Amino acid sequence: MTNSIKMLDGNSIPKLGLGVWQASNEQVVEAISTALDAGYRLIDTASVYANESGVGEALRVNKVAREDIFVTSKLWNSDQNNVQQALEDSLSRLQLDYLDCYLIHWPVPSLGQYSKAWEELIKAQQNGLVKSIGVSNFLPEHIETLIQQTGVTPVINQIEKHPLFQQKTLSDWCAKHNILVQAWSPLAQGGQGIFEQQQVTSIANKYQKSPAQVVLRWHLQRNTLVIPKSITASRIIENIQVFDFELTAAELKTIDDLNKDQRLGPDPLDFVGLD
Ligand code: NDP
Repeated sequence: MTNSIKMLDGNSIPKLGLGVWQASNEQVVEAISTALDAGYRLIDTASVYANESGVGEALRVNKVAREDIFVTSKLWNSDQNNVQQALEDSLSRLQLDYLDCYLIHWPVPSLGQYSKAWEELIKAQQNGLVKSIGVSNFLPEHIETLIQQTGVTPVINQIEKHPLFQQKTLSDWCAKHNILVQAWSPLAQGGQGIFEQQQVTSIANKYQKSPAQVVLRWHLQRNTLVIPKSITASRIIENIQVFDFELTAAELKTIDDLNKDQRLGPDPLDFVGLD
């Protein structure tokens, strides 16, 4: 299994990256340094995480070439009518002149602005400020609206996805449209008990891997990209060591069977989040 994959627009994206939600500017500098040393080449941030300047600082002091690192940021809900400025602000905090990927963070259907925002992302891509454009927390009806109105399909849909909330119908719909699914909270925000479940620990023991590594491997073999978050050096290193073993079909099914349709985050249909 190679460590990156081609998107619909021809650009490549690493299958695994570092998420940095809920990490401070100081914490991300350290975490990203550890991650880059461990082989990570994708960082997932967002303007609302209030740590883009830390991410920028980490990238500035590190020796890995800019073109070898994939940086994703996201347009916050209150900026859907202010895309150009929001993007410029993100780039300035990140000390970058382009993003590898820019996502609309949430559709916020009640605002009725996501299509207009998408048109602005298309312009930003044409202007070279962003290499690839995608969405997050979008349902098929929202993506269909974007495609109908602009003819441009998002390359990624970043959605909540983990063993307890597998979103199979949405994932299959994205796959059918060649939209890559990237899982947020791929570890169910620290496991929520699944790391202690016997079904998971027995697979982990068999491969001498941790339960978290088994879960990440399950995502990858189910064609899902992952952005596990950690600010703990040993876990950052552990989470990328998932390309040297392979789960059997029966083991994949064991993890599939843990699904409880249990959301940990908001529902995209009614989440507004303008703060
Ligand atoms: P994760 O599922 O990645 O879990 C992170 C938690 O798990 C942290 O508490 C971390 O602890 C712990 N952890 C990490 N690795 C291990 C391990 N090997 N063993 C045990 N525990 C571990 O949750 P997130 O919600 O952070 O999601 C990941 C990323 O997805 C975010 O950081 C963000 O980039 C993105 N995201 C996007 C959203 C969106 O709307 N688009 C919404 C939410 C997240 P510690 O850090 O202390 O090591």
